Amino acid sequence: MDKFCFSCGAPLKEAFANKSTDKFCSYCADENGKLKDRKIIQEGIAGWLKMIDPSNTTSDFMARADLYLKAMPAWSEN
Ligand SMILES: [Zn+2]
Repeated sequence: MDKFCFSCGAPLKEAFANKSTDKFCSYCADENGKLKDRKIIQEGIAGWLKMIDPSNTTSDFMARADLYLKAMPAWSEN
């Protein structure tokens, strides 16, 4: 079974695979496998949500990214 990033849910393969950790993807963790700041990841997810929903100009993508992260195991304790 494929593994998924604990922080953003991306499948951990190909470009997303992080060779320093099997918990987080290459976007969410740095080259040492250390998880980046929640704010950085939230901005990345906001950009991704905007990309898949480009005609939506009224949504608060940062707020939606915040809700998305609250459902992820890496951030659910916050
Ligand atoms: Zn990730």
